[in-house]
Amino acid sequence: MKQKIQEKFKALFGEEGVLYASAGRINLIGEHTDYNGGYVFPGAIDCGIMAAIKLNGTSKVKAFSLDYNELCEFGLEEKDVPEKAWARYIFGVCRETIKRGGKVEGFNTVFAGDVPLGAGLSSSAALESCFAFALNDIFGNGIDKFELAKIGQSTEHNYCGVKCGIMDQFASVFGKEGALIRLNCKTLEYKYFPFHPKGYKLVLIDSCVKHELASSAYNKRRASCENAAAAIRKNHPEVEFLSDAKRLWLDEVREEIPQEDFLRAEYVIGEVQRVLDVCDALERDDYETVGEMMYQTHFGLSRLYEVSCEELDFLNKLARKMEVTGSRVMGGGFGGCTINLVKEELYDGFIAAAKEQFTAKFGHAPKIYDVVISDGARKL
Ligand code: ADP
Ligand code: MG
Repeated sequence: MKQKIQEKFKALFGEEGVLYASAGRINLIGEHTDYNGGYVFPGAIDCGIMAAIKLNGTSKVKAFSLDYNELCEFGLEEKDVPEKAWARYIFGVCRETIKRGGKVEGFNTVFAGDVPLGAGLSSSAALESCFAFALNDIFGNGIDKFELAKIGQSTEHNYCGVKCGIMDQFASVFGKEGALIRLNCKTLEYKYFPFHPKGYKLVLIDSCVKHELASSAYNKRRASCENAAAAIRKNHPEVEFLSDAKRLWLDEVREEIPQEDFLRAEYVIGEVQRVLDVCDALERDDYETVGEMMYQTHFGLSRLYEVSCEELDFLNKLARKMEVTGSRVMGGGFGGCTINLVKEELYDGFIAAAKEQFTAKFGHAPKIYDVVISDGARKL
């Protein structure tokens, strides 16, 4: 990829650029916990975005996307927002940097990536954090890493129409090889934990479906969680978010809230604890416990939180049957990928069975993405 980027850069701009890169991400466990003030547990992966960049002495950005084979030129003022969707991510990062008092001047760039688009691995965060990191480095703006993640998040909010949380950009900026990062979504405190699954592979199976339900169901889940938290808060005023509640406190209000809200809250409170249990297990190199927690999360997402779907439940059940160590739906649900922790000796058989049986049942093949936990945003 490096060579292709530099060749194109040379062909377009007559010299080579300085190379930067950033990464997509997975979330091992901690799903639907972010808006409940709980933990998420992401890591950067070995696919991402790479960009060659060089100042061009003008007030314009000339950006070439190798993957779309398109050139886009735009200015740096608010009115200059480009039409092409991919260019808005770069424009947004420039604008958000400027809004924070950072310097940005015209530059040339050629970039490419290998994060599958829209598969739940956050190719957009990889793109944002690559440029946020690069501009900060090139212009010596001294913006701290957390703010770089927020530049990516605000780019999504203000220029791409996506009201996302901070996890994706956080993971992409802070990611480290061989480490997952537990982020407390309430306090934004974070901690690295070792992730060296020797003898195991981490593989995503993309169901390639996205059911329409997703956004209305999301709002309903949030409302249920807030309702349960409000009921608990009457007895325990310290409960700001649902994740602050103890399981016993939920039982106290069982009769006061709808059964549905109770089940949603039961999942969330369980999930917050599972993240902590996984972190403990990782410090002991105990990947069997990690895997078991992943299955429990899947069960919770499917039966209590009810955000799974037939395709994902099918993949999860198959994983269990084939003695895969851990498997669960990753992301908001209603489609997308399962994330699987598989012993190396079982990997080939599992993948072959998943492809064959999923295709036979649903009429289209799933996609397979092997991932390794790797470094996030950096200069090459
Ligand atoms: P994801 O879940 O992968 O983040 P999004 O829809 O949020 O999916 O972001 C995908 C968008 O990000 C693409 O439509 C494109 O505009 C931009 N993008 C991601 N990767 C690339 C790339 N390699 N080259 C150009 N644009 C990219
Ligand atoms: Mg995205």
